[in-house]
Amino acid sequence: MACKPLTKEELTELIAGLNETARNLWWTWDQQAQEVFQELSPRGWTNMFHNAVAVLHEVSDYELRVRLQNPEFAGRVRAVVKKFRTYLAEEETWGAKNCPKLKGNPVAYFSAEFGFHETLPIAAGGLGVLAGDHAKSASDLGLGFCGISLFYREGYFQQAIDHNNWQTEYYTLLNPANLPMEPVLDDKGQPIVCSVDINMAQVYFQVWRVNVGRVPIYLIDANRPENDQRFRDLTLRVYGGDSTTRIMQEILLGIGGVKLMRKLGIQPSVFHMNEGHAAFLTLELLREKISAGKTYEQACAETTKECLFTTHTPVEAGHDRFTAESLEYALHRYYKTLGFSFDTLVGLGRLDPKDAREPFCMTVLALKLCRAANGVSELHGQVSRQMWQKLFGSRTVDEVPIGHVTNGVHMLGWMKGPVRKFWRSKLAGNWQGFAPGEKKGRGTSVWSKIAKAHWDETLDIPEFWQSIADTDFISDEEIWALRYQLRRELIEFSRRRLLLQGQSLRQGDYIIFDHLLNPDALTIGFARRFATYKRAPLIFQQFENIVHLCRDKNRPVQFIFAGKAHPRDDDGKRFIQHIIHLSKYSDLKGSLVFLENYDMHVARQMVSGCDVWLNNPRRPLEASGTSGMKAIPHGCLNMSILDGWWREGYDGKNGFAIGDDSHPASIDEQDRIDSANLFSTLKDEVIPLFYQRDENGLPREWIKRIRHAMVTLLPVFNTHRMVKEYATKYYLTK
Ligand SMILES: *Cc1c(COP(=O)(O)O)cnc(C)c1O
Repeated sequence: MACKPLTKEELTELIAGLNETARNLWWTWDQQAQEVFQELSPRGWTNMFHNAVAVLHEVSDYELRVRLQNPEFAGRVRAVVKKFRTYLAEEETWGAKNCPKLKGNPVAYFSAEFGFHETLPIAAGGLGVLAGDHAKSASDLGLGFCGISLFYREGYFQQAIDHNNWQTEYYTLLNPANLPMEPVLDDKGQPIVCSVDINMAQVYFQVWRVNVGRVPIYLIDANRPENDQRFRDLTLRVYGGDSTTRIMQEILLGIGGVKLMRKLGIQPSVFHMNEGHAAFLTLELLREKISAGKTYEQACAETTKECLFTTHTPVEAGHDRFTAESLEYALHRYYKTLGFSFDTLVGLGRLDPKDAREPFCMTVLALKLCRAANGVSELHGQVSRQMWQKLFGSRTVDEVPIGHVTNGVHMLGWMKGPVRKFWRSKLAGNWQGFAPGEKKGRGTSVWSKIAKAHWDETLDIPEFWQSIADTDFISDEEIWALRYQLRRELIEFSRRRLLLQGQSLRQGDYIIFDHLLNPDALTIGFARRFATYKRAPLIFQQFENIVHLCRDKNRPVQFIFAGKAHPRDDDGKRFIQHIIHLSKYSDLKGSLVFLENYDMHVARQMVSGCDVWLNNPRRPLEASGTSGMKAIPHGCLNMSILDGWWREGYDGKNGFAIGDDSHPASIDEQDRIDSANLFSTLKDEVIPLFYQRDENGLPREWIKRIRHAMVTLLPVFNTHRMVKEYATKYYLTK
C-alpha cells in the first residue's frame, strides 16, 4: 500500500510533539509511548536507564525525519502524541469535580526525595518512591498539586560489591540537559534565582521543573556560582554528608521551598510535609505572618491551619534530631528575622520546651504546627499515637490526633510492559463481548462505562478487577502462561546482571547459565533497603532446612535478593555480605543470587518475575511497606509478617501470613519465633500449594489465590485510592 509521505510541516510538528512527550514523565506510565522511544534506539534505551530524552539526543534529526517516513511508525508516534496532549488537556477529572478549590490554590507537597523512574535517581528508597507515586496519581486524578524537593546532581549512590563482598558506593553526575526536566525561567528567559539564609551566608538557588503528567515538581538546586563550594554541595547527594549538611539541606527544602512558592506566585492551600525533613517550612510561614504584623500566637494558629504532616516510620533514627547548637549554627542569620526568640524556636522542636538537654526534633516541630497528622497504615497510626502521646498533654493514646492513610502504589507505573499489554488485551478486545454485567445479573452501568473508558482508566474501576475471579474472562492457562513468561524474563535478566557483576558464570570457555536459577522453580524475591529492622537474612537462620528445600529435585525453591544499605550502615552492609557469601560459597549456590544496584528498574523486574514476595520486618517497624503492592498485578503473591499494609490486606486466601497479628516485646524472642514461622509457612503452605499440579501441570489452587489477590488488593492498595483519601480527609478540610 502506497502511503503519502509526510510533508515537511507535518514532520516538524510530529518531532516537536515527540520532544514534548519525552520531557514529561507521563511516558513512564504509558506503554505505547515507551515502545516508541525504545524502538527509536533499543540499545540507547537499555544503556541509558530507559530515558526518552537521552534517546532523542542519540537519534539525529535527520534520522528521525527518515524514520518517520515509515507510515506505520509515524502513525504510532502520532497516536502517542495525541494521547499525551489529550491527557494534558483533560478537564473532566476527579479533581475538577471533587476538589475545584485546589485548582487555583494547589497542594504543595514537600518531600526530601522523589522516585519517579530509574532515569532520575533522586530517591533513597520507599519514601521517595511513594512521593513519586503520589504525584503520578495526583496528575491522573487532575488534582491541583505541585511537589517541592531538591535536585541532587549526584543523586543517590550506585552500589558495587568489592572482592570482600562489601558494599561500596559510587556516584555519577546527572546531566539535566539529558533528563526529563527543564530550568524554571523568568519572563526574560533567565533562570529564576531565590535565596535563603543559611549559617552566615545568603545561599542562592535555581530551580528545575520535572513535569509529571499534569503536575509540576520543583527541584531546588544550590549549585550556583554565587555560592561558596560548601553551599553549592548542599544539593550534591540524597541525604549526603553529615548532620550539618543534613540540617542545611532541610533548610533549603523547607524555607527555600516556601520562598520559591512565593516567587512563582503560587499560593498553596495546604503545605503537605512528607516526613519531618520538610518541617522548617513552618518557620518561614510563621516569619511571613509575623512580619506582616501578626502576633506569634496568631501566626502559629494560622500556620497550623495551612499545614499537614505525614509521619513514615516508628524507627527512632528515622526522626531527625539536631542539637540546639547546630540549629543555632545553621539558622544563625535566619532566626533573627523570625520575630521570636531563639529559645522559643528550639522549644518548637521539643516535647518539653524547657528541657535544655532535649534535642530539636523535626517530627515534633511538624506535629506542633500542623492541623492534622497521619501515619501510613492502621497499625502505624496506633504506634504513632503512642509514640507522640507525650506531646498532647493529658490526652489518652486514642485521643492523640494522628490518623492514618494506608500507602499505595501507582499501579500503571509499576506494571511491567508485558503485563500492561496483557491487561490491555483483556480490555480492548474481549471486553464488549464478555458483558459480565448481564451474565452475573449485576448492574450494567459500570460495564458500559468500562467499555467506553480508555483501557488504562479502567484499571481504577473495582468491578474490572472483580471480573478476574471469573474464569470466562481470564483462564487459568492464560494466567499461568503469563507467570511463566515473567519468571523467565526475570531469570534471564538476573543471569545477565550476574554476568555483568562478574559472578562466576564461567567454566572453561563457556558461560554456564543453567547452573544459576531454574525457570521452573518456585522463585522467592526479597528486595528493599537493607535497614536492619527489615531483617534480610532472617530466612537463613534455618540454614540447613532451607538448603534442603532448595535441593529438592521435584519441588525446588530459589531466592533472588537485592537492596542497598545506607553508606554509613555497617550492620546493613554485613547483611549484604552474608547473603552474597552464601550465594557464592554455600550449598545454596545456584539457588540464591544477589542482584547489585537495586533501583526502580530492578524492582520492576523482581516484583513481576517472582512467585512470592517475601517481607519479614521486625513488627511494628514497617510502617506500611509498598513493594509487595507492586507484585500484585503481576500475579506474584505476598508472604509477609502481619505488619504495615499487609496486616490490612491479608484475608487468609490472597497470599500468605508469617505468624499472627501480634508480636512479643523481646527482639530476640521475636526473631526466633518469626524465623520458625517463616520456615513453616514456606514448607507447609507455600511449597505444597505451588507444586500441587493437575494433569496439565497447572497449580489450580495457586492460581485461585492469584485471582483472589488481584480482586481483593488491587482496588485498595494503589495511590489513586490513597490520594483520594488524602484529598477528602485532609486536603479539603480545615
Ligand atoms: C518500592 C520500592 C521501595 C520500597 O520497598 P519496601 O518494601 O516498602 O521497603 C524501595 N526501593 C525501591 C527502588 C522501590 O521500588
